[in-house]
Amino acid sequence: MSKEIPYKIYLDEKDIPSSWYNMRADMKNKPAPLLNPGTRQPMTAQELSGVFCEELVKQELDETTPYIEIPQEIRDFYKMYRPAPLVRAYCLEKKLGTPAKIYYKFEGNNTSGSHKLNSAIAQAYYAKKQGLKGVTTETGAGQWGTALSMACAYFELDCKVFMVKVSYEQKPFRREVMRTYGASVTPSPSETTEVGRKILAEHPGTTGSLGCAISEAVEVATHNEGYRYVLGSVLNQVLLHQSVIGLEAKAAFDKYGIRPDMIIGCAGGGSNLGGLIAPFMGEKLRGEADYRIIAVEPASCPSFTRGKYAYDFCDTGMICPLAKMYTLGSGFIPAPNHAGGLRFHGMSTTLSQLYHDGYMEAVTAKQTDVFEAAEYFARVEGILPAPESSHAIKVAIDEAKKCKETGEEKTILFGLTGTGYFDLVAYEKFNNGEMDDYIPTDAELEEALSRLP
Ligand SMILES: *Cc1c(COP(=O)(O)O)cnc(C)c1O
Repeated sequence: MSKEIPYKIYLDEKDIPSSWYNMRADMKNKPAPLLNPGTRQPMTAQELSGVFCEELVKQELDETTPYIEIPQEIRDFYKMYRPAPLVRAYCLEKKLGTPAKIYYKFEGNNTSGSHKLNSAIAQAYYAKKQGLKGVTTETGAGQWGTALSMACAYFELDCKVFMVKVSYEQKPFRREVMRTYGASVTPSPSETTEVGRKILAEHPGTTGSLGCAISEAVEVATHNEGYRYVLGSVLNQVLLHQSVIGLEAKAAFDKYGIRPDMIIGCAGGGSNLGGLIAPFMGEKLRGEADYRIIAVEPASCPSFTRGKYAYDFCDTGMICPLAKMYTLGSGFIPAPNHAGGLRFHGMSTTLSQLYHDGYMEAVTAKQTDVFEAAEYFARVEGILPAPESSHAIKVAIDEAKKCKETGEEKTILFGLTGTGYFDLVAYEKFNNGEMDDYIPTDAELEEALSRLP
């Protein structure tokens, strides 16, 4: 019965999922709706469509359709870099001397170097189909901006990216990749928007935050004919698109009759984790199977573990809808952690509800521990991981070590969301012993949380 498991379980091209899976359809307690910041009433499709593409608004609000067909044009693009391999980390297991069986789903096999392309191509497709001229967005570490500029180049759409100033300065190569794909990149906060000028007046010399950049991108989208705003994480539509990760992982496991005992992913806004766990969580919600699901967040930006479950703004400028989520407060500006993709103050409303209802756990990891795990992994498995992904690696290794103590042969799946080639300044800091572990104090967190709307 037991087939030899290869290092990489590849699926065929025809096994790329034909539909995305919408976890919300199987949730008894649906995530709370987005609220209009003025009226505090649920945002209507009409209000949302001033900011987002129409088809994406439909997906955002759809809580009942479990499977949503992936248009052929998107599947054709997926074929360029999917299916992504599910890798059995034999070398890591051996090095750790653990009886655990470790698997990772690798999403770094495309130029953007992360899973973000899975949603970028979908969002660009719907913008094109609506006949728009272009889209605006923000990017922190740069992976989302890169993915979106690739997707916009493919569909010949204009792409305006507001890049958090500190990253714009520290990551000139990311910026150039975006420009190579035809995007315009503006450091945020900038003088080009009203909200940017306001933030600069209040905080001169600020190096920016995702929340500021979102405010600027939304302003530009809503003030320019033929433009809409797109977002690379947090939203339900993004989790929906990212379900290709989990659907492929499950199909690969099913080929060999394997069931993971635990699923681990890093959590910034929740999109890769939401996508990786989607079909497994579906089984859990329907009572068909049980899995331990663990979100890993940076100790410097601990939304799940130290945040509040409350309505909050998604942006610093407070112009976006209110979302009920685990949040540190939209005024919280996290310490300059090197895992830029995990620095958002809030969390997906879907994952927030699932966490609140006890369907998943969350833990934090300290930055230096994360880089230690990253290097360990790079040396045994060959892949140079993104700092974000390395949060999941750290906890997967910890769990595998626990199995060594107890002798349990658990099957662990973790999401390896991307590669770290653009994060070598961070690796340099770590290698030089110059990296610190900033953990916010309770007083700092309370300060931002006291300003929740
Ligand atoms: C953006 C990013 C993340 C975090 O975002 P989520 O929406 O929480 O998935 C993780 N890893 C990589 C490589 C990223 O680019």
